Amino acid sequence: MSDCLFCRIAAGEIPSTPYYSDENVYAFADIDPKAPFHAVVIPRAHIPSAAAVDPTNSEAVARVFEAIAKIAAEQGLDKGFRVVTNVGEDGGQTVPHLHFHLLGRRLLAWPPG
Ligand code: AMP
Ligand code: ZN
Repeated sequence: MSDCLFCRIAAGEIPSTPYYSDENVYAFADIDPKAPFHAVVIPRAHIPSAAAVDPTNSEAVARVFEAIAKIAAEQGLDKGFRVVTNVGEDGGQTVPHLHFHLLGRRLLAWPPG
């Protein structure tokens, strides 16, 4: 999708700081980090949100979580980390391309706001 911010970031049309890249997944530094380590991990395929995951595209989600495990290990997040996906207006989603926030290097409160 040429008008999608994260499709354009994954295509390299908009600059980002990469943490991980393969044929299915791209991960980059969040421009407004909410923790000392904050990556945005996305499937290269355009899926609008977690509400649009179905049997035709769920393989991409598995690939994303494989990448998350690799990034967490590479970044030494041995004490733990959090993976968050916001969905829709009430969920606080601002970019309509499925993405997972990978947050770490601080104690993360629960429940979230
Ligand atoms: P959400 O609010 O859950 O949809 O998450 C979107 C995230 O994308 C936010 O944490 C933003 O800070 C981040 N973001 C927006 N634009 C950029 C960008 N150009 N590069 C990196 N991160 C971005
Ligand atoms: Zn997209």
